Amino acid sequence: MKYTGNIYRPPFEARSLLLQVTVGCSHNKCAFCTMYRDVPFSVEPLSQIEADLKEASRYAPQVTRVFLENGDPFVLSADKLCAIAERIYRYLPKVKTIAMYASILNIKTKTDAELLRLRKLGINELNIGVESGLDTALIRMNKGYSRDQAIYELKRLQAAGIDYGANIIFGAAGAEKLNENAQATASLLNETQPYLIFTGTIHADPGCPLYEDLRSGSFKENTVRQYLAEEEIVLSELTLKNCYYFGVHPSNIIPMQGYLPKDQQSLLRELQHRRETLSAAALDSIPSRGDEGKILL
Ligand code: SF4
Repeated sequence: MKYTGNIYRPPFEARSLLLQVTVGCSHNKCAFCTMYRDVPFSVEPLSQIEADLKEASRYAPQVTRVFLENGDPFVLSADKLCAIAERIYRYLPKVKTIAMYASILNIKTKTDAELLRLRKLGINELNIGVESGLDTALIRMNKGYSRDQAIYELKRLQAAGIDYGANIIFGAAGAEKLNENAQATASLLNETQPYLIFTGTIHADPGCPLYEDLRSGSFKENTVRQYLAEEEIVLSELTLKNCYYFGVHPSNIIPMQGYLPKDQQSLLRELQHRRETLSAAALDSIPSRGDEGKILL
């Protein structure tokens, strides 16, 4: 199998076959992201994809789920995605779902009919870095879309029957706007009903604009207390019908997960209980970070 540079996948895709169809990210401009900064975006030729699938059919013929790589494979045209899907089924006939990272900008370039066609070919459960429902945060993070555009495109996905998992960043609007960010993010999620929410807190490694802003103090990070307050507001405000809350990114202060709405109250109680175990000094500190923004409390 051919892979170029660092390969990223969500933790819940650990059992999926990772198939490279693009290299890098077509946007590659989010203020907090260094994942593909030094990797020029390119599209893998179908001949290489087919060679990889042939190889996979020898060592993983039973695979039922494929996760397309890299940063936003949904940028490919509907025709190219259909051609990839057809080859996946040719070599791996047990596959049921083809998932991938996608961005709001990728949805915008596809018609409703194309989305339906992709869904019929098993493309589903897209993982989308929505990050926030607040326009000022989306602008600051250089996501390239507004809240209204995100809601519009996510509803088009929903109408085509394509489920999406939302990546959400607590602290994306900075400490001064934690309440607004939490309210706006919860309401975006309520309007668009993701099947999964993957939460993290804002962090930046050297090499991206946000890193400099955090160092200079022009972007004010939440304290531990503020991160927990922001998460508590989001969790309290959510009115989701059927969603998995996956709050176990290493950058989360309190790892938590469960089904919404079934576990909503117990998750809130856990957050409140775990907060009570922290000292005032820890709560009022800015989290120290390790690898992948891991919180070191
Ligand atoms: S966060 Fe996602 S969309 Fe933004 S630059 Fe990184 S990989 Fe690309």
